[in-house]
Amino acid sequence: MRSYWIPALATVLMAFAGPAKSHAQGDTAPASAETENFVRGFVRFLAYHEAGHLLMAQIADLNNNPDWSQADREDYADKFAMILLRPDANDPDGLEEIVNAAAGWMQVDDTIVRNEPHAPAGQRASDILCLLYGSDPEAFADIPEMADPNTDCVGIYQEMEREIREVFQDHSGEMGQEINVVYARPTPGMKAAHDFLRSSGIVEDLKDDIEFDFYLTNKSSIQAISCKGRIKPDSFYFDRVRAASPEDDHFVITLCYELIDARLKYGMKGFEDEAQ
Ligand SMILES: [Zn+2]
Repeated sequence: MRSYWIPALATVLMAFAGPAKSHAQGDTAPASAETENFVRGFVRFLAYHEAGHLLMAQIADLNNNPDWSQADREDYADKFAMILLRPDANDPDGLEEIVNAAAGWMQVDDTIVRNEPHAPAGQRASDILCLLYGSDPEAFADIPEMADPNTDCVGIYQEMEREIREVFQDHSGEMGQEINVVYARPTPGMKAAHDFLRSSGIVEDLKDDIEFDFYLTNKSSIQAISCKGRIKPDSFYFDRVRAASPEDDHFVITLCYELIDARLKYGMKGFEDEAQ
């Protein structure tokens, strides 16, 4: 079963081996299926990261914890995404996606990404791999060479997994509020991104995963929209839209078609292309 995920892991190792440019040089354009696999993993991770913010806000109210910096919250949302997406060792598609998410971060040039206060991209990548290793150190024995050897990945994974199970998840079998899904009509040029997102099933998977494991008390939505001219288009967002009383607050995850479009066009080399 390992043979399934070793090729994807090799991609990550290549990214570790040197600057993205060196291995991109002279390459022909990646096969479109390859690019799509990469984008699917990367976009899925980002969408689940926003879901981490939503659950932190709606269930545990962690956003108001005065001991937490914004960087702490971002780190927690990444860990949340990783736990929700944690693939089994015998799930080649899930493994490929999560490794692609890490590979995506590895390709990011921090100097041109304006999504602070997230951790540096390389750090986010190695944190993903650390948790993946920590989830099953036997099956993923090859990973720790890449993660920081002084980090207790197994301990971090187990603590986070327990926290999500005990603090966040609902074990009553009851369903809370359903998540409302909206695909806004794409603006010109964004149709490919819209179609890709729809056919990926990422939004529907996220909706199901959240509704199944967590009890939502508030109106919650995932909206895919063209962001240009409204908000910064190269990102995904979480917002709490305040109402007169907190129980009417609306929790919204926004996925910008533009982010998906850029990744589909440029694949893993996109971030350096944009820098020029
Ligand atoms: Zn975030």
